[in-house]
Amino acid sequence: MSRVLVIGCGGVANVAIRKCCQADDVFTEMCIASRTKSKCDDLAKALEGKTATKITTAQVDADDVEQLKKLITDYQPDLVMNIALPYQDLTIMDACLACGVNYMDTANYEPEDTDDPEWRAIYEKRCKEQGFSAYFDYSWQWAYREKFEKAGLTALLGCGFDPGVTQAYCAYAKKHEFDTIDTIDILDCNGGDHGYPFATNFNPEVNLREVSAPGSYMENGKWVEIPAMSIKREYNFEDVGQKDMYLLHHEEIESLAQNIPEVKRIRFFMTFGQSYLTHMRCLENVGMLSTTPVMFEGHEIVPIKFLKALLPDPASLGPRTHGKTNIGCIFTGKKDGKEKTYYIYNVCDHQECYREVESQAISYTTGVPAMCGAMMLLTGKWNKPGVYTVEEFDPDPFLDALDRYGLPRRENHNPVLVD
Ligand code: NDP
Repeated sequence: MSRVLVIGCGGVANVAIRKCCQADDVFTEMCIASRTKSKCDDLAKALEGKTATKITTAQVDADDVEQLKKLITDYQPDLVMNIALPYQDLTIMDACLACGVNYMDTANYEPEDTDDPEWRAIYEKRCKEQGFSAYFDYSWQWAYREKFEKAGLTALLGCGFDPGVTQAYCAYAKKHEFDTIDTIDILDCNGGDHGYPFATNFNPEVNLREVSAPGSYMENGKWVEIPAMSIKREYNFEDVGQKDMYLLHHEEIESLAQNIPEVKRIRFFMTFGQSYLTHMRCLENVGMLSTTPVMFEGHEIVPIKFLKALLPDPASLGPRTHGKTNIGCIFTGKKDGKEKTYYIYNVCDHQECYREVESQAISYTTGVPAMCGAMMLLTGKWNKPGVYTVEEFDPDPFLDALDRYGLPRRENHNPVLVD
């Protein structure tokens, strides 16, 4: 019996909303609000007659706190699910605080304009102090901890698959499998093929920024930064096969290092095919990944936004993507004084996702955890005032919900380790 306001109606939101509508006993009323209202109306229409969830739609510019406040005040939701872009995290958190509503998102804050001098000064100080140069980090949202605590509200950060489920896997390993964890390797494999020489599986701007940035990992409490794509490993993924994977910086490393401080090393690897890497390097070399506006025939354009307009819409990849994803965490550590290893992961099939919710598996593996995280907040399983990442909550009911709603866990107590 709850009312949620979903902000954003792109690839991930489409899955999250459809999954919420499958759990219409929890998600009884929902407002879908986004920049382009027609997309919300189309989805609401597609769901007509298929769910008991009462759906309304609205237009909102989530960069504008006043518009958000008005929408939240009018709709009076129990929870705001931010499934727009990381650029809107802070404005939506501000509006939730002002209106006294719980908040959640799927990716940590990063600014749209990385040339903004005020932001840049703080960023450069952080790069020096902490030793990693990604544009995104948790500091901006962790700064809201006290405000949410005082207001008696919960903010759940990064509840997709990675970040999100990967942290629940870590909390689960810590709770059930280990006394102490020594190393964590997060492995994100997409064995899907969409038939295009180059396309991104989620928002191209956010995806290409992440992948073209230097990689980094945490070792003995310190960041080690490396040039982009300079650490490569091969791994044989169950149900996918042998793949090349590359070490990337990833946001959950930052929170896991704080929340499981005994861990000596945390790394994140993602698989990429040669065609993807060749295209990305070429686009980067000619400046197409830049976020700095340039003048073109009298118009100001941002190269990466122009590129986004040319690339296939990730939402359109669903019908043509075949194959599976395999995402999970490999741990080493000790239980009852003995060394042990453990792997927990999920395998998801692109075509099965498409048949169920008309989406490929990348949006599916993000949208389902967003819905399950919302369910944890709405059913009171994960409520504590403050700002938290997924590993700070009890993983059991969340993993049970994932098992039930389409992302069942698999386990291996003798996995091949990554060197
Ligand atoms: P899309 O680009 O497909 O969708 C973004 C949606 O947000 C669109 O509906 C867009 O509206 C809307 N939007 C953008 N700006 C605004 C604004 N100012 N006001 C209102 N609405 C706005 O992105 P995805 O669905 O692929 O990704 C959604 C989120 O999920 C991102 O934050 C991404 O980083 C995150 N993600 C997380 C993953 C994880 O595992 N944790 C994995 C993959 C993605 P419009 O239609 O007008 O453009």
